Amino acid sequence: MKLQLFDVVFLLGFVTYVVIRGVFIERGRNTEVVVRCFDWRERVAMSVVFVGSMLLPLLYLFTPVLSLANYDMPTFVHVAGSVMMVAGLWLFWRSHADLGRNWSATLELKSTHSLVTVGVYRLVRHPMYGAIGLVSTAQGMLLDNWLAGWAALLSTILLCAWRIPREEQMMQEHFGLDYERYAGRTGRLFPKLPQIGIHRR
Ligand code: SAH
Repeated sequence: MKLQLFDVVFLLGFVTYVVIRGVFIERGRNTEVVVRCFDWRERVAMSVVFVGSMLLPLLYLFTPVLSLANYDMPTFVHVAGSVMMVAGLWLFWRSHADLGRNWSATLELKSTHSLVTVGVYRLVRHPMYGAIGLVSTAQGMLLDNWLAGWAALLSTILLCAWRIPREEQMMQEHFGLDYERYAGRTGRLFPKLPQIGIHRR
């Protein structure tokens, strides 16, 4: 096993990601859950994300089993991937911090749940999924292996496609008009472009 510089950058990002998650799991441990949507589809989606963003990269870095999928990525892509990893981790941390005790790894509502519309939630409704998308893309740009590199992005796209509509439905059912208004002025993953009004006389 011989780790290259950008493999180490990925590993540092990976450890930071796990630490951020661990801290917020610990902080939210004693909050009572009143709604939980953890069905088989949610389990499948989370298992696919686990394989793409944890199992495959670790197999690639520490064993030769995926070596058939190795290729050489230009250095500038690795450098851009490192910048994207830092940006993604910052957004990942900020979105956890802004959600506070409302955060959960699966679809849940807490007894003290409140609708967060400030911080990184002021402009977009799913900054955390956006952050996971950035970290997954960075994984593809840092690891010189088709499978271990890009499986995470694929699994993140699947997770978002499955989860975002259900999460928004759950939030809308619970927060009603407040959520509708919030959804009307924000984008899902990217901020809404300002509307250029055409004023008629
Ligand atoms: N989709 C969000 C949050 C992911 S964590 C994002 O990508 O940033 C998932 C949990 O966050 C859900 O179970 C839901 O209860 C909670 N949640 C999502 N948006 C929220 C908001 N604006 N305010 C409070 N809780 C929210």
